[in-house]
Amino acid sequence: RGSPNRPNMNRERSRNLYDRALSVTPGGVNSPVRAVRPYPFFVERGDGAHVIDADGNKYIDYVMGYGPLLLGHDLPQPVQSAVQSQLADGPMYGAPTEVEVELAEFVTRHVPSVEMIRFVNSGTEATSSAVRLARGYTGRDKIVVMQGSYHGAQESTLVQGTAGMASEPSSNGIPPAFAEETITLPFNDADAARELFEERGDEIACVLTEPILGNCASVPPVDGYLETLRELTEDHGSLLIFDEVMTGFRIGGLQCAQGKFGITPDLTTLAKVIGGGFPVGAIGGRADIIEQFAPTGDVFQAGTYSGHPLSLTAGLETLRYAAKNDVYDHVRSLGDQLRAGLTDILEDRAPEYTVVGTDSMFKVIFTRDGPRDLEGQCAAGCSQDPDCPRFEYCPKDKGDVNRAETERWERLFWPAMLDQGVFLTANQFESQFISYAHTEEDIEQTLEAYKDAL
Ligand code: PLP
Repeated sequence: RGSPNRPNMNRERSRNLYDRALSVTPGGVNSPVRAVRPYPFFVERGDGAHVIDADGNKYIDYVMGYGPLLLGHDLPQPVQSAVQSQLADGPMYGAPTEVEVELAEFVTRHVPSVEMIRFVNSGTEATSSAVRLARGYTGRDKIVVMQGSYHGAQESTLVQGTAGMASEPSSNGIPPAFAEETITLPFNDADAARELFEERGDEIACVLTEPILGNCASVPPVDGYLETLRELTEDHGSLLIFDEVMTGFRIGGLQCAQGKFGITPDLTTLAKVIGGGFPVGAIGGRADIIEQFAPTGDVFQAGTYSGHPLSLTAGLETLRYAAKNDVYDHVRSLGDQLRAGLTDILEDRAPEYTVVGTDSMFKVIFTRDGPRDLEGQCAAGCSQDPDCPRFEYCPKDKGDVNRAETERWERLFWPAMLDQGVFLTANQFESQFISYAHTEEDIEQTLEAYKDAL
């Protein structure tokens, strides 16, 4: 405190709202990640790349709703008009609408793996339906997920345990028998995947993975890793599912991360950006698999709100807007500027930390090592080669994302950055997002704040 950059913001109204919230909702929030310490600020409204809290404080926002708001808080006129017009016609009907067909056609036209799609209401619903579909299609029960991944608040993937073995639930309330059907692997470890498939390939219904581990600070796949997963699943009659809930229509533009990496999975889960800020989810993929969903197939899947006209209208118009304007160039260029600026600052002030991310995702991770997986080796992949530019910081005991200095990062979040008017994700492991509404000036201001904070 005390720097001219840190005005010691008044957040009295937020504090009062939090006190009220605590007595009527668990932890004062409706999703645990929002329960930041010492208390969350309550948002009054969004404004372009900013949010304004209940006390009138303004922040540059890199949370962006945890990813959906590709265009920022002010929906462009065509998106707003279409949503308002849909609202005027009634919010939903329980019968098909044209916008479902149009958004399905848009997604199938652009995303390599998607020939058919079923819309649901959240990323969690998308991944749990995709797992059921994979089990129904293959007639197998076991699924494989990556350590450090997140696929929503669902029974099959809230697991922990030793790589290659049956898992245990990572939350109370999940029967151990459910978690036993899930096997975890370390991301980017092709040998571990090969070994597992050699031993148990014929039991595995699917490998479910984010193409970039976006819920583990942002861990990119090392060269050849996604290719190995593609080959192994194909050779053993298992399905490869890319969870693109976070990366979909954010990384790799309209083709998503699968287009960027050139790997076509059997199924893809989507959410966030395809709802333009409204609740949505989707399972897309090969037509012969998607058609196993009821009513054409025997895998039951249904929802009162599925294909909700307001969400799908917002999503369709957002994606059309992104297709017609320089949205992806803009966010990628600001992302490059921000990551390069952060790299310079770290070199000067905190060389033991690392900048991660690509396109419009970024994070400064408080570990000496670029992350490779939750427990593994350096992303630079040098295997402690003295010629590696990161060798100086290469921990001989394999640094990893799990060993990041979480407590120190929390102080960066608040007060160091928040009191300078920059809103980051409160958790060390959550990625951060740049929107079309951010400007070069926002990036410069953010870099100044990081400089002071670090
Ligand atoms: N999958 C991934 C990769 C996610 O990042 C998330 C949420 O952040 C989910 C699934 C769950 O999505 P939702 O919160 O919409 O249920």
